[in-house]
Amino acid sequence: MCGIVGYIGKKNALQIILDGLQRLEYRGYDSAGVSIINDNKELITYKKKGKVSELAENIDINLFAGSVGIGHTRWATHGVPNDVNAHPQFDMDEKIALVHNGIIENYKTLKTMLQNEGYVFRSDTDTEVLTNLINYHYKSKKDLETAVRFALNEVDGTYGIACISSFEPDKIIAARKGSPLMLGIGIEEIIIGSDASAIINHTKNVIYLEDGEMCVLTKHGFQLKTIKDEDIFREIEEIEFDLQEIEKSGYDHFMLKEICEQPETIQNTYRGRINFETGVVKLGGLESIKDKIVNAKRIIITACGTSWHAGLIGEYLIEQMCRIPVEVDYASEFRYRDPVINEGDIMVVISQSGETADTLAALREAKKKGAVTVGLVNVVGSTIAREVDAGTYIHAGPEIGVASSKAFTSQVMSLILLALMIAGEKKTLSDDELKRIANDLKTLPEKIKKCVEAKDDYKFIADELKSASNFLYLGRGLNFPVALEGALKLKEISYIHAEGYPAAEMKHGPIALIDENMPVVIIAPKDKTYDKIISNIEEVKARKGKILAIASEEDNNINDYADFVIRVPKTFNLFAPIINNIPLQFLAYYIATARGCNVDQPRNLAKSVTVE
Ligand code: GLU
Repeated sequence: MCGIVGYIGKKNALQIILDGLQRLEYRGYDSAGVSIINDNKELITYKKKGKVSELAENIDINLFAGSVGIGHTRWATHGVPNDVNAHPQFDMDEKIALVHNGIIENYKTLKTMLQNEGYVFRSDTDTEVLTNLINYHYKSKKDLETAVRFALNEVDGTYGIACISSFEPDKIIAARKGSPLMLGIGIEEIIIGSDASAIINHTKNVIYLEDGEMCVLTKHGFQLKTIKDEDIFREIEEIEFDLQEIEKSGYDHFMLKEICEQPETIQNTYRGRINFETGVVKLGGLESIKDKIVNAKRIIITACGTSWHAGLIGEYLIEQMCRIPVEVDYASEFRYRDPVINEGDIMVVISQSGETADTLAALREAKKKGAVTVGLVNVVGSTIAREVDAGTYIHAGPEIGVASSKAFTSQVMSLILLALMIAGEKKTLSDDELKRIANDLKTLPEKIKKCVEAKDDYKFIADELKSASNFLYLGRGLNFPVALEGALKLKEISYIHAEGYPAAEMKHGPIALIDENMPVVIIAPKDKTYDKIISNIEEVKARKGKILAIASEEDNNINDYADFVIRVPKTFNLFAPIINNIPLQFLAYYIATARGCNVDQPRNLAKSVTVE
């Protein structure tokens, strides 16, 4: 998920790697490190928790002289951010150093196998397993490229890697599956980068590695292959973007990039956690307290802002699917109202950063009162992740835009997984139901992609509505929290006043606001509430309000009622909040940009609210 740089050539590798790492820092990171093959052909490593600048200040430049090396900025997925877990990771014999972006899903099985072979591990990372696996194969093959190839063929999950070794000190081996990696081809030098910002200062000529490919680099050139050992020829391409554009992968804003990443981030949340044949969900981080969760008498979900909206969706899901009563509390309120916690209560805390001050305080309060606590957090090793009894990471990757987008959908996905895990254990859903849900989940990334591809249509609607001063968002059931989140997103980044309501509540107050200047966004899925939603639309129309309906693809009726329609692919009810949320993220984004607002850093807001 984070940054990789590598260098092989005639120059001093260290400086080029440190410069590259600094350029990759915008992606978010928690630690950084470098390994160099020094002039005596020894492998040396320096890595540290914290910023690249600290690494650069403390490293002994003279000791690290050499012209082959690799570097990394880590965004932890397995193991807290500390010096030992920082990359490069190395094998037990300290002969192989490796930097890795991504997740090795079967690391536990491989680790046990290697431990049985006498391998010792120092870190908590999944990555270290790969270094020892390469060492294991090197012992029999005596060839680094073959050893890496064998290891990669045993690994499940995602990786972008670069690897050096004192066994064969004049080469770097790089490979990719699911995490980006490219080579900058200079004159008698090659720079490896997980994105072009690490390369562009040196050359504009690049080769993009594709999934399932690896490359052996020497001072004299490179050889591209598949991990099945087939030769590949690839044309060198020229980068045409500038640095700013590269960091945002060509998108105008980080927020837009993060919205568009959701077909992949959703998969990162569920990958390796659900068996698609059976629908059975296993959340490794919750195993230690699984029985307590399954037998919970009550679940209290607490969070702030967008995470609180995800929590509300969790309430619907868990109550419906698991038949356990759920309460959702604002973290800031929870801690001050002397809440009642009984034996058998489970507290689920949700926070993107894992540092949200109110949520942390609520967590501590609940622990004091004896609740068993579960964390749903994006940032590995964050305070909340450390203080909960057990937790599951949402794996959305670093989120840079202040207004949350991909973290929200990954939080919802994590809550779906949690509900499925409980329902599977409690048998509140049948085996057939679990299978059908798992089957539908397979198609979810494709459906999200369809929504992302329709973004120009949303932009057109945003242009029509951008001058309104107030918006109302309405939804029922699982889509009520989606309405709240849609309204919050608009408020946060466009500064337009917006409110979310359960559609049926409109008559009890907000209807008084409706006139011809008031756009009303209604989430209108073709489910059992459809007729009621149509009545709500009629009520708005009768008062001259403008309707934007988020409707199912197969709804032939809706155009008769709504002024604007956004169509989304049909999906299982429980995935609807994810699908319906995507157009609302785009709507807020395009309205905000049309009004000239700074969407990545909206006024008065901070990414992670660490004060009460
Ligand atoms: N899974 C690896 C770790 O946690 C790599 C994380 C990354 O992509 O930065 O160390």
